[in-house]
Amino acid sequence: MAKKTTNQRVCSFCGRPESQTAMLFSGMGGACICDSCVEQAGILLKEHLHPGKGGSDTFDVDGPIPSPAQIKAHLDQYVIGQEDAKRALSVAVYNHYKRLRHSADSRVADEVEIEKSNIVIVGETGTGKTLLARTIARVLKVPFCIADATTLTEAGYVGDDVENVLVRLLQAADYDVKAAERGIVFIDEIDKIARKSDNPSITRDVSGEGVQQAMLKLLEGAVVSVPPQGGRKHPEQPMIQVDTRNILFIAGGAFDGIERHIASRLKANVIGYNGTRTREAIDNHNLLKYVLPMDLKHFGLIPELVGRFPMLTHLTPLDADALRRILTEPRNALVKQYEVLFRMDGITLQFTPEALDAVVNTALQYKLGARGLRSIMESIMTDYMFDLPNMAQGTTLVVTAPMALEKINKSNINNSLIN
Ligand code: ADP
Repeated sequence: MAKKTTNQRVCSFCGRPESQTAMLFSGMGGACICDSCVEQAGILLKEHLHPGKGGSDTFDVDGPIPSPAQIKAHLDQYVIGQEDAKRALSVAVYNHYKRLRHSADSRVADEVEIEKSNIVIVGETGTGKTLLARTIARVLKVPFCIADATTLTEAGYVGDDVENVLVRLLQAADYDVKAAERGIVFIDEIDKIARKSDNPSITRDVSGEGVQQAMLKLLEGAVVSVPPQGGRKHPEQPMIQVDTRNILFIAGGAFDGIERHIASRLKANVIGYNGTRTREAIDNHNLLKYVLPMDLKHFGLIPELVGRFPMLTHLTPLDADALRRILTEPRNALVKQYEVLFRMDGITLQFTPEALDAVVNTALQYKLGARGLRSIMESIMTDYMFDLPNMAQGTTLVVTAPMALEKINKSNINNSLIN
């Protein structure tokens, strides 16, 4: 309700008197709202209805090109560690923006064509590949989608046609084809389409190579017919033509077992006459950091496909320190989320360092990785959250290690999570 002081109307939201506003709108019952509160509400509403597509934290393709450092700074807020991958991804996106700008400028585009910097991220499951992709999507003002390579099959087999990858992109762009044509596609589990000579499945072409060939077409830049609603193509269906020349592809995969190829290559290097790296210098706990395109080929990706991903980066396995940081540091860290939930009921929530250690150790002990942190935290906090409305406002709940361990043991997390 607008208060009337000294005959002046005031904004019911920020309390500003009419004299300090550009405009004051009146509503029922004497309520008023000023121009800046309307504007603020508009921004919040836009961000709520179209997350990642508005707000000051996003980068517009037509605005100033964000520097790699700016893009990385954004990633740093959500993704712990993984410096190499964050730098590589920031550069790939930076170049993508520049490339779009360049190809839009017909005077220079004819002279030099900048090639796409499609990128492959190799990393164990649960180390942040999807998180990186999702986080980058938040800042980009280009359509973005995540497609799962496991569902893709060569035309004629059970599963999705490769073109379906673009259906999601079209959906993300509200079927604005021009916008989709400069979007970014994250292809998850790219390793699952690697050639497997002994694959007995009838749901996929036996070698797996057909899917790779089909994907090649998308990556190379072609005009592709996409069924608007996805699924299998059929002749009577109307198709949308999408030019993939300017679409950036980011692929991620765990490439289970690729370490063997890396190790044997490194070993050959050490033994070989020209070996430059000594055996001692090799970090055996993190062989992925030595990954090269040739390892992807040995793993079963066809050379043409590997060649279409000029950038290759890796994620490091998450150790206790990283897991601990993941619990507390990211902008939406689990601990911060619980603190907010409790604060809403007037309770201050705290965890002792030892309690957080107990969470991390449980995740490590049962090899649950970062993904398991949430389940462990839930097992600790569910009972407390159940009782939350009965707790006296203004009190502080300190979760200690014995309290955490008691809840973890009670929840039988060791059985439920590994099964
Ligand atoms: P991947 O795609 O590599 O299998 P995800 O990106 O889905 O793994 O990670 C699973 C969850 O683990 C994420 O949602 C996030 O909560 C957490 N996580 C994993 N890696 C990190 C990281 N480096 N920094 C912050 N959180 C992480």
